[in-house]
Amino acid sequence: MPNCPNCGTWNPDDKTLCWRCQTELPRPAPPKPKRQNILGFPLWVWAALLLFFVATSLGQCFISGVPPA
Ligand SMILES: [Zn+2]
Repeated sequence: MPNCPNCGTWNPDDKTLCWRCQTELPRPAPPKPKRQNILGFPLWVWAALLLFFVATSLGQCFISGVPPA
């Protein structure tokens, strides 16, 4: 809720001009980009887990699926 720097009047967030004195309002600071978290863990943790799971299951397939020569 930016207050008008000229007259101090409160203006709604989507307003770019003060509704009372038509002064240009300062742009509110852009919101910080949210880090994508899944169940409290950052995405890279899940990527690492998935990579580990894929690597181990692939390894098991390689070990058990290929009969020894
Ligand atoms: Zn104003």
